[in-house]
Amino acid sequence: MQTSSFPREGMWLKGNYHSHTTLSDGMLSPEEQLRRYKLQNYHFLAFTDHNAMNDRVQWNEGILMLPAWERDILYGEKTKCTHIVGLFDLKSPSDTTLRRPKGDKHTITDQALIDQMRKDGNVFISIAHPTWSRMEPEELLSLDHYHAIEVFNYGCECLSHEGHAEYLWDFLLRHGKRIFGIACDDTHGHTIKDDHFGGWMMVKSKAYDRQSIIEAMQAGHFYSTSGPEIHDWGIDEEGNAFITTSLCREIHFITYPTRGKSFAGYLTETTFPLKGGETYVRVECIDFAGNKAWTNPIFLQDR
Ligand SMILES: [Zn+2]
Ligand SMILES: [Zn+2]
Repeated sequence: MQTSSFPREGMWLKGNYHSHTTLSDGMLSPEEQLRRYKLQNYHFLAFTDHNAMNDRVQWNEGILMLPAWERDILYGEKTKCTHIVGLFDLKSPSDTTLRRPKGDKHTITDQALIDQMRKDGNVFISIAHPTWSRMEPEELLSLDHYHAIEVFNYGCECLSHEGHAEYLWDFLLRHGKRIFGIACDDTHGHTIKDDHFGGWMMVKSKAYDRQSIIEAMQAGHFYSTSGPEIHDWGIDEEGNAFITTSLCREIHFITYPTRGKSFAGYLTETTFPLKGGETYVRVECIDFAGNKAWTNPIFLQDR
């Protein structure tokens, strides 16, 4: 019998949890941003303007808006920074209020910012584009009370080829952190290459509402992708990791401390026998266009 890492019941919802509008440094109005994602059949979207929660979250015409923001710590003239995305747990549009504190100028630690965001009502917290931000592995490892890092930020990939963070993610996982990986657009609209629709998440949610989506994100019931679809993945009773996908040319099982395995070919179903003793396993899938998908890890100490 196969044990899926996704819940049996529920629906798949496509979303981008990180985008900007003219409320901060995005080029597009909230109306235009929303229109574009709706045309691409996204189920949910978040405006994560810098240090400002957008009050347009009440718009819900064919696309569900998640109330959110991106908080920043700036380090003077240096390129180093910390950006953290937070999703709010607001149950009805009437709960929304604008919150616009000033950007913090390196007077607050990363951990203090995370703790403050939780106090402000953020129930899902993600470290944005850690490679682009010049965050060191040890800095990330020292932080607590966040749910995810962005394993792929399409906007940063368009800006300076700094969208990927697989190494940092595995560093955290190897050290026992239970952190999920998210792909997103971080759409601003002013990169040379259009930074829409390059990275998104597929959430297995029990219902199409904000609370269910956020609960599914907190539980890690999603995968991230820039193209390939993951239909199912998990571990069977014999201890084999398995995955079923849209057509891929490469499937990589990543484990620690023993090594995983790479497969190549015309792949839609792939199985890898675990060796025993792994602390986690996760999978990356690459399709024939070179696009990638990332599962969340399964933590094997739990089994
Ligand atoms: Zn950012
Ligand atoms: Zn951003």
